[in-house]
Amino acid sequence: MTNKLQVDGFNYKGQEPAKIIETDVLTVGAGNAGLQAAAAAAEEGAKVIVIEKEDTINLMRVSLAAVGANSQKRANNEIDKYELVEYISAFAQHRVDQSLIYTWVNNSAETLNWLEDNILKPNGAHLRSEPDAGKKDPIYNAYPTQSDTTCDDKTFASYGSFFQDKVEELGVEILFNTSLIELIYDGNGVTGVIARDLENDEYIQINAAKGVILATGGYSANLELLEKWNPISLKKNVINDSPRSNGAGIVSAMNIGAIKDEEPAQLVFDRGLVKPGTKTEDQFTHTAKYEDWLWLASHPFLKVNLRGERFANEATPYEFINNAASKQPGYLYAVIWDSNYTNYLSQHHTLGCARVGFPGYMDGAQAYKEDTEQYIDTGLVHVADTIEELAEKLMLPVETVKATVVRYNELAEKGFDEDFGKEASKLTPVNKGPYYGAVLGGRILATADGLRINNNMQVLDENHDPIEGLYAAGNDSGGFFCGTYPDRVPGLAASRAHVFGRLAGKHAATK
Ligand SMILES: Cc1cc2nc3c(=O)[nH]c(=O)nc-3n(C[C@H](O)[C@H](O)[C@H](O)COP(=O)(O)OP(=O)(O)OC[C@H]3O[C@@H](n4cnc5c(N)ncnc54)[C@H](O)[C@@H]3O)c2cc1C
Repeated sequence: MTNKLQVDGFNYKGQEPAKIIETDVLTVGAGNAGLQAAAAAAEEGAKVIVIEKEDTINLMRVSLAAVGANSQKRANNEIDKYELVEYISAFAQHRVDQSLIYTWVNNSAETLNWLEDNILKPNGAHLRSEPDAGKKDPIYNAYPTQSDTTCDDKTFASYGSFFQDKVEELGVEILFNTSLIELIYDGNGVTGVIARDLENDEYIQINAAKGVILATGGYSANLELLEKWNPISLKKNVINDSPRSNGAGIVSAMNIGAIKDEEPAQLVFDRGLVKPGTKTEDQFTHTAKYEDWLWLASHPFLKVNLRGERFANEATPYEFINNAASKQPGYLYAVIWDSNYTNYLSQHHTLGCARVGFPGYMDGAQAYKEDTEQYIDTGLVHVADTIEELAEKLMLPVETVKATVVRYNELAEKGFDEDFGKEASKLTPVNKGPYYGAVLGGRILATADGLRINNNMQVLDENHDPIEGLYAAGNDSGGFFCGTYPDRVPGLAASRAHVFGRLAGKHAATK
């Protein structure tokens, strides 16, 4: 086929595979969607193989959204599903397949309950839903969708190894160091894949009688694809937090006639520290270790563009400040705060993973202080006795920054943000030295535009008909998000992966 997109830099030219393996269901990617799919298919009695290009499973996310899960019932968290689905759809300007969002909402409780009963509880953990996570915000509502995996109600419990044990107990075989290269399509449907055995440096063929489920996690590590499908993401973001996801699933399906979302979607956190003077086009680093990640940056402190001017309400979903900065010169921005900052954190009422205290990653002021101070040592957070000196260190125009801080303090004194409408509780002054600042860009967690699917997670062709034998779940699938991820429905991306993985596995195994 001409104009084929290349996966993983391998130039497979139809060589004879070193071996042929037979299975019922093949899942590509041992991550959130992939392992759920494998477990669900195996529970239905199918023979299941998972191929994973790395030598470990991926991190299983500890915060998962649902409506009506047992954990939410225990916490008396009630959510009107119709209101929620409309909110998620409206957030994307309805550039979504709304029936998929209903499919998620209607299956989310079953998936979380299954996780709790089969993976967590046998290992001493459970799901905890936080009653104060909902909020009617003057600008954007937040929904108490998130449940967190925990043993002690004070810290997260990671459950990846429990999940791996469970799928292996169900008879699933995980082939690590095995990368998807291309799908085998016989004109009627997908019958299997060609994969690269990276250890033995050879191609193998895996035939899947009931279906192939793509769950490779999107394409945020693939610069060429970002340039093609989401070019502004390379300007808004300075770091990619999903280095494993290079687009193999999406590309392999498009090479046999699948369609994908026409508009990009992504998850971005506003926590990417860079050195002052960095140009966004010069930096796009990959990490799986939360490097140069400033938790404080998701708090609504004063934020200024590279000209030293305030440019937006800072109290918005995480990615909105990056979106707002993308309309400013240079795409990056700086956050400025003062020595009283730890006193203000609780009143900010930040949500999701920026929440102060569990379930959140920072359990209180001391944790924020330690996180922040480590970056003073690495030259990414700057401290100065005066605003002038701080502006110089941040390489921002000194007089403009001074005037911006004076104006911001006037607004804080009035308790009314005449310029950008930020709530009074989040309008905290910058008046006690030493002063702090850092230059920031976005960090892309994952892309979320993917292959078009139907409600059975079957991948669609250009006629919007399902391609026999082909499924996609998680960030390889699309139709669900557009543009910015609605982080005030916390846990939605990870939950979509789990719920749709599970549905794909069940359908493939029982069809
Ligand atoms: C730092 C961080 C924080 C996040 N926080 C949240 C949060 O709070 N709430 C939320 O809802 N979501 C969050 N997310 C997003 C969420 O984790 C993802 O959207 C979701 O887990 C994606 O699941 P997935 O199954 O699509 O992909 P993944 O779980 O990423 O799995 C994909 C797997 O496919 C493998 N793979 C890739 N290419 C190939 C190939 N060619 N052959 C074989 N295997 C391959 C990869 O190695 C990987 O193991 C966060 C993500 C990150 C990175």
